[in-house]
Amino acid sequence: MPFLPRQEPFLCEHCGRSIEPLEHGSYRNHCPFCLYSKHVDDRGPGDRASGCGGLMPAVGLDQDGKKGWILIHRCERCGKEVRNKAAPDDELQNGVIDGENGKS
Ligand SMILES: [Zn+2]
Ligand SMILES: [Zn+2]
Repeated sequence: MPFLPRQEPFLCEHCGRSIEPLEHGSYRNHCPFCLYSKHVDDRGPGDRASGCGGLMPAVGLDQDGKKGWILIHRCERCGKEVRNKAAPDDELQNGVIDGENGKS
C-alpha cells in the first residue's frame, strides 16, 4: 500500500481525507484533520525503515519552548510512541487530545 511521507498529497487512512503537503518545506507525516499518523519510520522522520504500517493516533500533546506544539503518536499495532512537531494547520482542538484515551 503506497504511503509516501514526502511532499506529495496523500490520503489519510483513518478519515479518508486528502492531505496536501505543507508549503514551507516542513515535513508532514500526519493528518491535520484527525491527527493520525502511520508507522512507517523507524529511527527518524522519512526513513521508512519500519515494516509495521500500523495507524498511529495522537495520544498526547506537549509544548516545547522552541518548537511549539509536539504531538505524541502511539502505534495501534506495536505501541511505539513517536513525538512529532505539530503543523500550523493541525486541528489540535479536535478533541482527539484532551487527555482522554479513547477506547479501553
Ligand atoms: Zn485523517
Ligand atoms: Zn508500529
